[in-house]
Amino acid sequence: MIEGPLMDGMNVVGDLFGDGKMFLPQVVKSARVMKQAVAYLIPYIEAEKTEATKAKGKIVMATVKGDVHDIGKNIVGVVLQCNNYEVIDLGVMVPTEKILQAAEEHNADIIGLSGLITPSLDEMVHVAKEMQRRKMNLPLLIGGATTSKAHTAVKIEPQYEHPVIYVTDASRAVGVAGHLLTDSLKHSYVAEIRSEYEKVRERNAKRRPKAADLSYEQARKRRFRTEWTTYTPPAPGFTGIKVFDEYNLTELVERIDWTPFFMSWQLAGKYPKILDDKVVGEAARNLFSDAQAMLKKLIDENLIKAQGVVGFWPANSIDDDVIEVYRDENRQDVIKRLHHIRQQTTKGRDGLCYSLADFIAPKETGTADWIGGFAVTTGHGVQALTKAYEAAGDDYNAIMVQALTDRLAEAFAERLHERVRKELWGYVPEESLDNEALIAEKYQGIRPAPGYPACPDHTEKTALFELLDAPRHTGLELTENFAMWPAAAVSGWYFSHPQSKYFSTGKITRDQVEVLAQRKGMPLSYLERWLAPVLSYEPAEEKAPVA
Ligand code: SAH
Repeated sequence: MIEGPLMDGMNVVGDLFGDGKMFLPQVVKSARVMKQAVAYLIPYIEAEKTEATKAKGKIVMATVKGDVHDIGKNIVGVVLQCNNYEVIDLGVMVPTEKILQAAEEHNADIIGLSGLITPSLDEMVHVAKEMQRRKMNLPLLIGGATTSKAHTAVKIEPQYEHPVIYVTDASRAVGVAGHLLTDSLKHSYVAEIRSEYEKVRERNAKRRPKAADLSYEQARKRRFRTEWTTYTPPAPGFTGIKVFDEYNLTELVERIDWTPFFMSWQLAGKYPKILDDKVVGEAARNLFSDAQAMLKKLIDENLIKAQGVVGFWPANSIDDDVIEVYRDENRQDVIKRLHHIRQQTTKGRDGLCYSLADFIAPKETGTADWIGGFAVTTGHGVQALTKAYEAAGDDYNAIMVQALTDRLAEAFAERLHERVRKELWGYVPEESLDNEALIAEKYQGIRPAPGYPACPDHTEKTALFELLDAPRHTGLELTENFAMWPAAAVSGWYFSHPQSKYFSTGKITRDQVEVLAQRKGMPLSYLERWLAPVLSYEPAEEKAPVA
C-alpha cells in the first residue's frame, strides 16, 4: 500500500507542485492523507515485521537558537516528507550543539536551518563554523525569510568546506535534496553552486564601497527638522500603561490583512483579488474557506487568547538620536534612553537623513512631547494546538493555526493602533478608515517595530519590554536573540507626529556604530554583532568572547 498507490499518489502531487500546476495548500493536504494512512498501516507492518519503505534520505531540520518562527520550516518538512525523505524536526530555538548532535546520532544526510529574524544569520554562520570544526561532511541547507543567496554565499559558505546551499522556498527543497543525495548528480551540482556563489561574492565585493555615502557627522547635519515652536504635540489621554486582557478576538478578525496569509502558503496575489485569480483562485478560495472554519473554531472553543499592553510616556529627544523617556511631566527623571539609528544616505526623495528620534521634540525646544509603545500576542495556546495536530498527522491544520495566529497578532496591533489614534492617545478622534486604508497606512503616525528597517537594532526591544512590563502583562518573553515568544506577537513604538513615516536606515558606518556603542554602554564588538545586517564595513574579528 505504501510503496504502491500511496507513494505513486504523492509522486504525482510532487510533480504537479514542481510544475506549478498544484499549490502548497493542496500538497500539505495530500501529505496529511499520506501520513494518516501510513499511521494506520504501521501496526500491521510491525505485526508482520516487514520492512517499511526505505526513505531517500534523512534530514535534520531546526529553527536556530534565539529564533521562534517555523511556518516555513514546517512547510519544507512536509514537502520533503511527501517526497519520501525522513525529516527529523528539532523545532524552534535550537542551539547549535543540539542540531549537530542530532545529525550525528541519527546519521543524517543533510542539515537544514531556518531563521526569520536577522540575528539568526549570525547564528547560522556559527553552525557552519562548528560543522567545520567538528570535521562533519554533510551538506547544510539554509532557508527562511531573513536568509538570502548573497548572505549564504558571502558569510556562511566560506566557513564550511562541504556544500552550503541556499534554498529559496519549499518547492525547491526537494530538488536540492535530490541532487545532493544522488551520487551521479551531486558532484556537478555542488560544483555549479560553488562557482555561482563565488560569482556572488565577487559581485558583492565590488558593490561594498557604495554602501553609505555620508559620515555620521554629515548625516546629522541633514536631519529632518520641523517647526517645534509652532507645532504642539498632542498629549495622550493617559501616561503609564494600560493592559488588555483577553481581548475580543472577533473584533480582531475584521482587521486581518489577508494578503500575507496567502503569501505564507506561497500563493501570490492581493486579497481579495486572489480569490478570483485565473491560476491560484481555486486553491486560494479553498484555503480561505478552511481558514474561516479554523478561525471560528479557535474563537468559539477559546483555544487561543489575545493579550496586549499599551503605554505612553513623556519624552524628548537629545543629541539628535536619543529619546529620553521621563517618569512624569516634570521631565526630570529619565527612566529610559531609547537609541535610534540615522540614515547615512542622501538617496531619499528629499535628500534628508532620518532617524526616528527626529519625530520627537528636542529637549532644548522646551516643547512637551510623548512616545508610546505596545506589545501584543495571540500566541498563547498555539504550541499545544500545533503539537496536537502534528501528533495526529495533520500538518495542514498545524500550519494553519500558526499562519492564522500570526495574522491575528498583526490585526491586534492594527486594531490597538487605531484605538490609540482615535481614543487612547486620541490625536485623531474623528478618524474613519476602512481596513484597506489601514493596511495602506493612510493614518497619521507610525508604529515602527525594533528589528525592522527604521530601527534595525533588535537589542532596543529590551527597553520597550521593560517600559511596558510586557512579560508580566502579556506573557511574552524575549529570547537571547531578541525574538518574541510565543511567536504570534508584535511590538513597537508609537509616534504621533504628522510627518513621521517609515524608512530604512540603510547601511551605516563605523563612526555611527562607535557613538551608538558608547551611548548604549555596550562593547563595540557586541553591538556590531547585532547590527551586522546594516554595517557598511567588515567588523574586526572578535578576539575574546564578550563577558
Ligand atoms: N498589515 C500588515 C502589516 C505588516 S508590516 C500585516 O498584517 O502583516 C507593518 C508593520 O511592520 C508596521 O506596522 C511596523 O510595525 C513595521 N514596519 C514596517 N516597515 C517598517 C520600517 N521601515 N521600520 C520599522 N518598522 C516597520
